[in-house]
Amino acid sequence: MQTSVQRNSRPLPPGFLDRLSARFGPACQTGEAVRAQHGSSESQYDTVLPDAVVFATSTEDVVDCVNVCREAGVAIVPYGAGTSLEGHTLPIEGGVSLDLSRMDAVLSVNHADFDCSVQPGIRREALNAHLRDSGLFFPIDPGANATIGGMASTRASGTNAVRYGTMREAVLGLEVVTPQGKVIRTGTRAKKSAAGYDLTRLYIGSEGTLGVITGITLRLHPVPEAIMAATCPFDTLAGAIETVVQAFHCSVPMARIELLDAMQVRAVNLRSKLGLPEAPTLFFEFHGTPNGVSEQVDLVKSLASSNGGGDFQWATLAEDRNRLWRARHESYYAAVNLRPGAVGLTTDVCVPMSRLAECILATRADLDTCSVPATILGHVGDGNFHLVFSIDPNAPHEMAEVEAVNHRMVARALAMDGTCTGEHGVGIGKQQCLIDELGEDAVDVMRTLKRALDPENLLNPGKIFQL
Ligand SMILES: Cc1cc2nc3c(=O)[nH]c(=O)nc-3n(C[C@H](O)[C@H](O)[C@H](O)COP(=O)(O)OP(=O)(O)OC[C@H]3O[C@@H](n4cnc5c(N)ncnc54)[C@H](O)[C@@H]3O)c2cc1C
Repeated sequence: MQTSVQRNSRPLPPGFLDRLSARFGPACQTGEAVRAQHGSSESQYDTVLPDAVVFATSTEDVVDCVNVCREAGVAIVPYGAGTSLEGHTLPIEGGVSLDLSRMDAVLSVNHADFDCSVQPGIRREALNAHLRDSGLFFPIDPGANATIGGMASTRASGTNAVRYGTMREAVLGLEVVTPQGKVIRTGTRAKKSAAGYDLTRLYIGSEGTLGVITGITLRLHPVPEAIMAATCPFDTLAGAIETVVQAFHCSVPMARIELLDAMQVRAVNLRSKLGLPEAPTLFFEFHGTPNGVSEQVDLVKSLASSNGGGDFQWATLAEDRNRLWRARHESYYAAVNLRPGAVGLTTDVCVPMSRLAECILATRADLDTCSVPATILGHVGDGNFHLVFSIDPNAPHEMAEVEAVNHRMVARALAMDGTCTGEHGVGIGKQQCLIDELGEDAVDVMRTLKRALDPENLLNPGKIFQL
C-alpha cells in the first residue's frame, strides 16, 4: 500500500501543450512512461503524473519554459534525479516536470582557489570522476547519486558532512531563473561576502519553490594525503554513541562517523557481503597527514575500547574503502530488502549531540514494540539519524503504524530542541512537522517570501507548506 496524494490539477489552457512542443520539439514529452517516471519517487507516495516533461539543455531553455508556463498559469516542478524522499518532485498541481539532468556540464575547475562551476544536472559521482586527476574532490555524498541542483535544493548532506559541512557550506553562488523568467546570480567565487541579503542560502533548501537553479559554484577540497577507514562493533548502541560524543569532546577531526544498528548490519551483510559481526557498529574514516591520522586512530580506538567496542576492521586499500562506503550508501535498499516484496519508508531527525544517545535509544525502544521491521542508521557525528522501514504493501495497518512511530520520533527530537529533518527536507511529508518545529508565525514568514518571489505560485506548488 502506498500513501495517496491529494492532486489539485490546474486546467491546462487550450493550445498550451502545442506551444510547449513548438518551442521544445522532442525535448517536450507527453508519453505515459516518461510522465510516470517523473511522477513517481523513491518515497512511499502514489504516482502523480505531470502533464508534460521538458528536458532543458541550457539556461535559455529554462527561461523559455518558465515563460511559456507563466503565461498559461501552469505549474513547473524542477526535477534532478528524482531521489528525494518526501514527495518533493510529485506534480500535485499538474503541469510541467522540468528535467535538468541534461544540463550536466562542468563549466570550470579553479585549482588555485579550490572551486568549480557546474550545471545543475551533473550527478555527484560524475563530478568526482571529472575531478579524479585534479587532486581535489567534492565531499557531499547523499546515499543516492543525486544531481548537484537537487542537492542544493534540498540542502543535502551525507557521510562527510561532519568534517566538510552540508550543501549550505559547499555552495558559493548560484545562477537562478526566477518565476518571472529573469536570470540572476546570487554570489561570486569569493570565499566570503557581506554583500546584502544572502540569496544563495535562501535558494538552498527551497525545494524548487522559489526559482530554478541553472548554475552552481562549489567549494572543493584537496584529497587528503592519508585516508584510513574502519568498522568497529560495540556491545551496545549506547557505547557506540558515547564513543562518538567523547571523540568530539577530544576534538578528533573525524571525516566520517556513521552508526548502523545490529539489524542494519545484518541487512548490509546480506546485500554487500561485508561479513561484519551483527552488532551496533560504527563506520569511521580519518583524513589528514599520516602522523595526524595515526594519532586520531589511536585516540578513537582507546575511546571505543572503554565503551565496549571490539576489534577495528580496517579498509586500507582504496578499493576496500570504496566497497565499505558503497555498502553504507546502499543501506537503504539493503534494509528495505530484508523483507522480500516490501516497500521502503525512510525518515530522519537531527538533535543536539548531547541528546543523541537518549533520542536514539528511546527510538530503538519504540521500534522494538512496532510490528514493522526497521533499522537505525545515521550520520551520528552530526546528531542526525534515519529510520528505514520495510513495509508489507499488502498490510495497510503497517503504514499507519509506521506513521505513528515517525510522528513520535519527530516529537521526541523537537522536545530535545532538534529538527524534524536534518537532510531529507519537508516536501509534502513533513509540512505539519515544520509548523510544530518553528511555529505558524515563522512558517508565515516563509509564505510571505514565497508570495513575494512567486506571486502566481508557479514553482513546485504545495511543497514545504500550504499557502
Ligand atoms: C538511497 C538514498 C539515500 C539517500 N541518502 C541521503 C543522504 O545521506 N543525505 C541526504 O541529504 N539525502 C539523501 N537522500 C535523498 C536525496 O538523494 C537528496 O534529497 C538529493 O539531494 C535529491 O537530489 P535529486 O537530484 O534526486 O533531486 P530531485 O529529487 O530531483 O529534486 C529534489 C527537490 O529539488 C528540486 N530541484 C531539483 N533540481 C532543481 C533545480 N535545478 N533547481 C531548483 N530546484 C530543483 C525539486 O523540485 C525537488 O523539490 C537519499 C535518497 C536515497 C534514495
